[in-house]
Formats: sequence, structure tokens, C-alpha cells
Amino acid sequence: MAVQLSRRSLIKFSPAFLILSRSLTAPRPSLSAQDLEVKGLDREIWADELEAFVPKRIFDVHTHLPCWRFNLDPKKAAAPPDAVGGAVFTETTLDLLTRFNQKLLPGREVHYLAFPTVFPQCDFKGSNAHVASEVRNRPGSAGLMLVHPSMSAADIEKSVAAGGFLGFKCYRYYSVTGDMVECRITDFLPEHQIAVANRHGLIIMLHMAKAKACADPENLADLQRLSRQYPRVRWVLAHCARSFTPYPIEKVGRQLRELPNVWIETSAVCESASFSALFETFGIARVLYGSDNPRVGMARGKYVAVGRGWFGVDSEITRSLTENPTDLRLTFYGYESLRALRYAVRWAKLDDRQIQALFYNNASKLIEAVRKDRG
Ligand SMILES: [Zn+2]
Repeated sequence: MAVQLSRRSLIKFSPAFLILSRSLTAPRPSLSAQDLEVKGLDREIWADELEAFVPKRIFDVHTHLPCWRFNLDPKKAAAPPDAVGGAVFTETTLDLLTRFNQKLLPGREVHYLAFPTVFPQCDFKGSNAHVASEVRNRPGSAGLMLVHPSMSAADIEKSVAAGGFLGFKCYRYYSVTGDMVECRITDFLPEHQIAVANRHGLIIMLHMAKAKACADPENLADLQRLSRQYPRVRWVLAHCARSFTPYPIEKVGRQLRELPNVWIETSAVCESASFSALFETFGIARVLYGSDNPRVGMARGKYVAVGRGWFGVDSEITRSLTENPTDLRLTFYGYESLRALRYAVRWAKLDDRQIQALFYNNASKLIEAVRKDRG
């Protein structure tokens, strides 16, 4: 089939651009108010594929609460209006997210493990206080605090206690090496912070860096050492241990399974082969459902694996495929991730009890265990 790509799309596909874009900011999809309307294709996909699959009760362990006021970039006025969540998610509360979840996942009861949206220049205090106040009166949900490597153990301990946080969200933007693409785990999460998590049995939501993610020898060695040395930390590896292609998780899923304090969440991954490899190698007992809402899960498009890499198919790319005669309307990333998960669940022949565990019970058990340890 002849495929025509616009110049901009070609630039997007080039590896050099991907590395550059990752080094500046994560290649996140755009999200406009119009995109958030549930359209004909979304309704069809929900009715035909997802309604019978998605359980009534969901624990979403990867939920951001973006608020534009916590972006401290002095040039933020020049950023595109949808840079963080469009006009819709400039001041995000759990009530607002729930309203949208009721449209996207009708009739589902959604609980949240929520944390701030990560800005390169971020108001840590403000964004953490916002998350703390949002989860305070929701016993079925919980919050993680955003940490920066410069925070001392004493400061973090104080904030965890004051905010009632169940753990940390760290991010590679803040790597002390200045290289967010190839940094190691302890470059953005120093060991004095891991020691705090270990003392209190906290969760660490970890989005790994490096091209091969969990299959990178340094990342794997670090995870093995850190999970042994800090056995009370509950590590949650984001985005299928960052396996947007099946390669990393297929490679090391069995070794990760040997680490009893490691969980893996599903958010933003849209390849069923990644989930299949996850179930085959890591099992399902410590797999958690996540959406990466609102910024990714509620945007339109799909992350597609190509060779060892991946990219987001967005409306700009589909519009550029002028000679493609098929229906290229885009649905939500969140729906694409659920569709991929559904196929992997079917191939693994999971029963209803296992599906409910994946969507809710595994997470609620983890959260309860952390609450108990924190006292
Ligand atoms: Zn995220």
C-alpha cells in the first residue's frame, strides 16, 4: 500500500527526533476539549469490545492531577494550550476526573492512586498539597507525593506524614546527571529517599529511563539490588515496566517475578503482545491496572511498537496518510490500552476472578498492606 507521509510526520519518525523530543519533554499526545467528547467510534468500541470486559469496580493506580498553576516554567504562556491537559484539566480534581470516567467507562466505580503531574519546573509543595487534599476524604483512594532528588529524608518523612501519602512518584526529569534519557534509577531517586520508603513500607511508582527500560542491564541490576537491600519498599513499575514493545518485559519478566516486592502496572501500553509477554513471564498476581489519565489515557491515539521503539499515532499522522483507504478515526489511548489488555487476557484464558484481581483486588490489597504498615 502506498503511504504518503507529511514532512512533519517524517521528522517525527526519525530516531534522532525521538531522542531529542524525549530529552526535552516526554512525547505526550495532545488533548483538547473536543477530543474528550465521546463519539460514534468510541461508543461502538465500548459496546462491542469493552463493556463486557471491564469489571464494575476499578482501581486505577496511575492517575495524575494536572494543575497548570504548578508549572513554574516562566515561558509557560508560550506553550501550546494542550501542553498539560487542555483547557479541561488546568485545575484537576478527582471529581472532575470521575465525571469524565463516567463518560468513558459508564457504570464503573473508579478508585484512584493519584499523584501530581510532573513538570520540569514544578511547584512540588503546591502540587503535593493538592493531591493530599483530594484524597483526604476518599478512603477508597490514595495519593503519592512527587519527590525531587534534592529533598532530604527528614523533609520527605515530614511530608509523607502530613499529607497521608502512601509513597513516592519520582521522575527522570530531575535526574542529577541532567540526562533524563539514559539515567539510572538512583540518579533521580537517591538512596536516602528509598531508605525512607523502606522504613515505612511505601510505594514507589517508577517510570524507568534508558532505551531498553527494564531490560537494560543497569536498570535490571539496580532493581535487583535495591529490592533486596530495601525489601519493604513496594515498587510499582509504570507502563508495563516501560514495555511499550514486548521486548523488554519478555526479556526480563521472569527475573522481575523473582523480586517479591515488585508490581507492574498497565497504563498507556497499547500493544497486546506486551501484556501477553507480561502475563507469561511475570504472572498476573502482581499486575495492576492503570490509565495514565487524563493526559495520555483520555487523549486520542495509540502507542505503536516499531522495531525496538514506539511512537504515538495521532491525528496529524493519520491525516497525513492520504492514500490509506481504511477508517483511521482515532479513539482514546485508554480504550486502545484496554483493547490490548482484553486480547492478552483472552489468550491467557484468565477467568473472571483473575480479571477482577487485575482491575481492582491486586491494587486494593497492596494499598491496604501499605496503610497497615504505615500505621
Ligand atoms: Zn503518567
